Amino acid sequence: MAGFVKNDSPFTCAVCGKRVEALGYSSRNHCNGCLCSLHLDVSPGDRANACGGVMRPVSAVKNRKGFVVIFRCEKCGAIGKNKAAEDDDKELIIELTATPFKE
Ligand SMILES: [Zn+2]
Ligand SMILES: [Zn+2]
Repeated sequence: MAGFVKNDSPFTCAVCGKRVEALGYSSRNHCNGCLCSLHLDVSPGDRANACGGVMRPVSAVKNRKGFVVIFRCEKCGAIGKNKAAEDDDKELIIELTATPFKE
């Protein structure tokens, strides 16, 4: 993907305070505990977005490759979609699949 920057380092979640370890096989984009992330990227990993709002999970869908979590930025309302990581909180994701996504 154009503009993709691998950015897979451990971080502390700014929303729930969980220490999130590096994912290893891909770039981790969101906290695996509360699934939130910060609105920092234009292209994944580039940290080029000045918004900095909290991207909260609002819904999730299951496709052939697994779950995709849909996020909305609390500050600017931007919608983002991200593949769930292997160690994401599955119960939370399954709860989110019950919420239909509306733009
Ligand atoms: Zn968190
Ligand atoms: Zn935003």
